[in-house]
Amino acid sequence: MSTPLLNVNGIEVIYNHVILVLKGVSLQVPEGRIVALLGGNGAGKTTTLRAVSNLLAGERGEVTKGSITLRDERIEKLSTADMVERGVIQVMEGRHCFGHLTIEENLMTGAYTRKDGKAAINATLEKVYNYFPRLKTRRTSQAAYTSGGEQQMCAIGRALMANPKMVLLDEPSMGLAPQIVEEVFEIVKDLNTKEGTTFLLAEQNTNMALRYADYGYILENGRIVMDGEAKALAENEDVKEFYLGMG
Ligand code: ATP
Repeated sequence: MSTPLLNVNGIEVIYNHVILVLKGVSLQVPEGRIVALLGGNGAGKTTTLRAVSNLLAGERGEVTKGSITLRDERIEKLSTADMVERGVIQVMEGRHCFGHLTIEENLMTGAYTRKDGKAAINATLEKVYNYFPRLKTRRTSQAAYTSGGEQQMCAIGRALMANPKMVLLDEPSMGLAPQIVEEVFEIVKDLNTKEGTTFLLAEQNTNMALRYADYGYILENGRIVMDGEAKALAENEDVKEFYLGMG
């Protein structure tokens, strides 16, 4: 197999110097795929994403064992800004749009690190609007007054404004009606197919995630307990019994 884009190798993560949350997590994300990281509340999904995007320090967390490589580069000691520069962007759970800004202003904040000029940024904005026509309709609305689904789309759209190679998507289904979740996932799949964007997707909604992902890992209490092709996982009896009712 060729080198995966992302290789997480046996990482341990500790919060506040004492709380061991990840107990040796390994996973691979090949370029151009959608990989789902599944598991219940508190399993360690968000912590895994934070380790990759280097958002742990702000949470008083650190990787104390193992390694993370992006292509062939070790990245555990880099900053969040370094990761953004390398094209890895996390879309946080709970959406985190700036409520007082309009949808378009929110999207433009995603382009702040780009140095390729206004025309290129505007071209990306148009592309984002093509994928998310709802955002175009709501471009001048203050984000606080848009729906949960629109805010989730705005958060993903803002990440896309940085021209990412890989998006770490944390629970995009959280708090959304099933129909909207489906709409969001359809767009993710579309972006993956047409733009080649790689996704690492943390989800409690196992059913929905396995319909759109290529491969899945199941995390339980800080350890990967199962992994496989999404189709095989969706048909696995243990997965059906323990996880498919969730979300
Ligand atoms: P959820 O769906 O609830 O976000 P998750 O699978 O994403 O769950 P994490 O958020 O990674 O899980 O949390 C894993 C464990 O780490 C939990 O026990 C949680 O209480 C703990 N934890 C998360 N963030 C911190 C933090 N900043 N400080 C201390 N403990 C934390």
